[in-house]
Amino acid sequence: MKLEKIYESMGISKEVYAYGQKIEAELKDRFEQIDETAEYNQLKVVQAMQKCRVSDIHFAGTSGYGYNDLGRDTLEEVYAEAFHTEAALVRPQITCGTHALAVALAGNLRPGDELLAISGKPYDTLEEVIGIRPSSGSLLEYGITYRQVDLLPDDRFDFEKIRLAMNERTRMVHIQRSKGYQTRRTLSVAEIGKAIAYVKSVNPDVICMVDNCYGEFVEQTEPTDVGADLCVGSLIKNPGGGLAPTGGYIAGKKKYVEHAAYRLTSPGLGKEVGATMGIIQSFYQGFFLAPTVTAGALKGAIFAANIYERLGFAVLPDGQESRHDIIQAITFGTPEGVIAFCRGIQAAAPVDSFVEPSPAPMPGYDSDVIMAAGAFVQGSSIELSADGPMKPPYAVYFQGGLTWEHAKFGILMSLQKLLEAGLIKLP
Ligand SMILES: *Cc1c(COP(=O)(O)O)cnc(C)c1O
Repeated sequence: MKLEKIYESMGISKEVYAYGQKIEAELKDRFEQIDETAEYNQLKVVQAMQKCRVSDIHFAGTSGYGYNDLGRDTLEEVYAEAFHTEAALVRPQITCGTHALAVALAGNLRPGDELLAISGKPYDTLEEVIGIRPSSGSLLEYGITYRQVDLLPDDRFDFEKIRLAMNERTRMVHIQRSKGYQTRRTLSVAEIGKAIAYVKSVNPDVICMVDNCYGEFVEQTEPTDVGADLCVGSLIKNPGGGLAPTGGYIAGKKKYVEHAAYRLTSPGLGKEVGATMGIIQSFYQGFFLAPTVTAGALKGAIFAANIYERLGFAVLPDGQESRHDIIQAITFGTPEGVIAFCRGIQAAAPVDSFVEPSPAPMPGYDSDVIMAAGAFVQGSSIELSADGPMKPPYAVYFQGGLTWEHAKFGILMSLQKLLEAGLIKLP
């Protein structure tokens, strides 16, 4: 059979290929549901572009101050339309997801305010933004305090503790949809909606901000459909569709998006400045592709869960459960397992496949991290990638794949590496 032969020529043994085919065949129904969500979201994006009368004039770049950048302003309308919000800030000057979150926080919080995280500890890099770990220029240094309510042991919101933690200084609530580097469940849009409704019932003036990283287009709704005042993410994850070479977005209520813009550029200037220098067409095209790219990544995550679950490893989410982000955590329990997995992902990449990743210190993280990424865009995690902090429980976080076919190849290659290292036996 031809397909098997080309896999074999690329280092996938007959045994690994056959095991993969068996698992894939069992996932037909799940994959059909994912395709249906992609279809819905594809139409949502096209509808937004049509409503905003996107035209080729919008793909031209501006330079200098970037005043009256039609392409930029219209793209922000497209995002606002797709997220069903009043406004959006979508910029190449937002360097990454952490920066987008930092801008949304710092733009909307004032000295004396308190930030309350209600889905437990925020993503690692936010610890220095907030000042949970001491850092120069943190919110804490500006007199903005922080409080945290952990999720319950079954990963549900702890409404009682949320009420007790809210006080007259609580200005903003932080909710993180995805698990980040934690072994917890990812929160569904519906659950996030209930938590927001609860917070608003205690105090309607509190700003509810959702870190939406990795969640975009996984469901048919977004947190902004269920009451989030601000929704924040990175363009080198889902919404950039693999084509945006950099950038981040903040979508939400006009007032809060404007506050973020005054922080990103300058008080008084806000959204009016920011040249796009010819980059904006890739933002449009990436957003257009994002629903199907996300679907491919999601299929890869489900495939990986089913492959490794059956080999006896703890996987989160498990093989059956519904999905709310594209991240798959697999706990190998040993550094060797994490390293072999990442080396397999790297070996399957279109770029830098000859490189062997090793654990190393990373800015913003408190332990060594191993990262596998053979990406067209540096560090892009909507492209097939895996990373894991080198600390117990030795879990690897796998995500991305611009196409399902490539995600599948990467997972088979990881399996091959684990097999060759003697760390697994196939049934
Ligand atoms: C990736 C991520 C971030 C930070 O994004 P960067 O682009 O890496 O700075 C924040 N929160 C969550 C949940 C993430 O997954």
